Amino acid sequence: MANGRRMLGQTKQARGLIRSLNRAMVRDDKSPRVVEKTAPPHDPTICARCGAVFLRKTWRNDHKLSDEQLERGEWGFCPACLQVSKEEGQGRLLMRGKAVSRDQAAIRRRIRNVAARAAKTQPQRRIVSIESTDGGLDVLTTSQKLAHRLGHELKKLFGGRVTYTWNDDGTLFATWDYQAPKGAAHRNQARTFRTRSGARA
Ligand SMILES: [Zn+2]
Repeated sequence: MANGRRMLGQTKQARGLIRSLNRAMVRDDKSPRVVEKTAPPHDPTICARCGAVFLRKTWRNDHKLSDEQLERGEWGFCPACLQVSKEEGQGRLLMRGKAVSRDQAAIRRRIRNVAARAAKTQPQRRIVSIESTDGGLDVLTTSQKLAHRLGHELKKLFGGRVTYTWNDDGTLFATWDYQAPKGAAHRNQARTFRTRSGARA
């Protein structure tokens, strides 16, 4: 009996070791998408950096934990915090064009606003970094959806052209070409209309 119990204990220990080895290996993995698929975190896990909680298969900021859930909860890091700390992302938006450096302050403000609004409902969608490049800006995001959103919102507010390239691994590379403000294009159009109606009159 005693032997049997010891064997059982050893088995449990071995299983625990294998589990922690697996976790360590997953942490070294450079692909966050694969991490999410192959190693779901302990339920519940509380992110030690941002406080997000993994419960019922989702990371949320507003999960309410019962005393019992708190008791069996484990500390860890959510995928977004891991990506930010490794400076990795699933989305990238490269901004270039004459007007980018001129309107840089307003562009950065817009990026922060869009990201803050996204974070309210989707805490895993975050900015990893915003870097100035040669006459442009390079934004890395944890989620391809946020990079897509930023491209869309910047074009809507300022004008210019956006292109999106989705890669096989689920990442998105977007570019925003911003040569002249939206207003300038509109004013040119308005002049054209006036000339035409003048010609007709
Ligand atoms: Zn976190």
